[in-house]
Amino acid sequence: MERIRVWLVGAGPGDPGLLTLKAARVLASADVVVHDRLVAPEILARVPRRAQRIYAGKQPGRHTFTQDEINRLLIRLARRGKRVVRLKGGDPFIFGRGGEEALALARAGIAFEVVPGITAATGVAAAVGIPLTHRAISQACVLVTGSRRKGQPDLDWKGLARPGQTIVVYMGLAGLERVSRELIAHGLSPRAPAAIIQKGTTAAQRFIAGTLAALPGLAAEARLRAPTLIVIGNVVRLQRRLGRFMPQLRAGPAPVRARSGARAVRRAPRRTTRPRRATRP
Ligand code: SAH
Repeated sequence: MERIRVWLVGAGPGDPGLLTLKAARVLASADVVVHDRLVAPEILARVPRRAQRIYAGKQPGRHTFTQDEINRLLIRLARRGKRVVRLKGGDPFIFGRGGEEALALARAGIAFEVVPGITAATGVAAAVGIPLTHRAISQACVLVTGSRRKGQPDLDWKGLARPGQTIVVYMGLAGLERVSRELIAHGLSPRAPAAIIQKGTTAAQRFIAGTLAALPGLAAEARLRAPTLIVIGNVVRLQRRLGRFMPQLRAGPAPVRARSGARAVRRAPRRTTRPRRATRP
């Protein structure tokens, strides 16, 4: 069999403890690591000293590398005989453009392996106590991107507004107002429970819950910054009961328990959680 040259590795949602053993092993044997912005410093510290580290992160509105440049870089390094690790936040195949990198490698005839990571949806929801599916409450969970690019088809709002499912929005902060408006326009209740989590699983984690109608105001008021994950659906209600028994959430002030929009907006900034240490193994 051909020798593997490139590993597309998921680094998990932030907490370095959520890196898989396989990812750690692959990282330890890398010659070059090409990494993103969302990869924790503790994980980067595992890159061997002798290995080269290349930052290929993209910042909103300020791209250091284009996707095409990253693809070509991976191919060039692999052809030089390097063991290349492409380290990405979360899981490489969930909104991480890992599929595009894999396609580019396949086109170039380069053997690769994908090492899955814990994606933000599962990692962050677990950290705050939101079960993404729950018997009798939510039979499906759909992951969508809230970022809107020209030429891309719009989301299937009607399908998303269907009852009995949980919606998880990646890259949704800038478009939160629109997501909330469209879902309500397509039949979801304005009072549907919704939450937004900033930097989940890290020490900088902040959590806000409220109604779907109130969430954009709450997020603005709390001055949340990306990366944030939005969770919409009745499972969010379970967080109230579960969170009380999750001491790691109580390290900071209590989370917002917003019921009505207006009240929630006023209370948001003072009552977001800021656990000192989110989750440590
Ligand atoms: N491949 C990644 C997603 C990359 S897209 C994964 O599987 O998780 C980047 C988006 O992921 C962010 O805009 C945010 O919506 C979400 N995200 C990643 N890490 C997060 C975290 N720790 N807390 C909240 N959202 C996060």
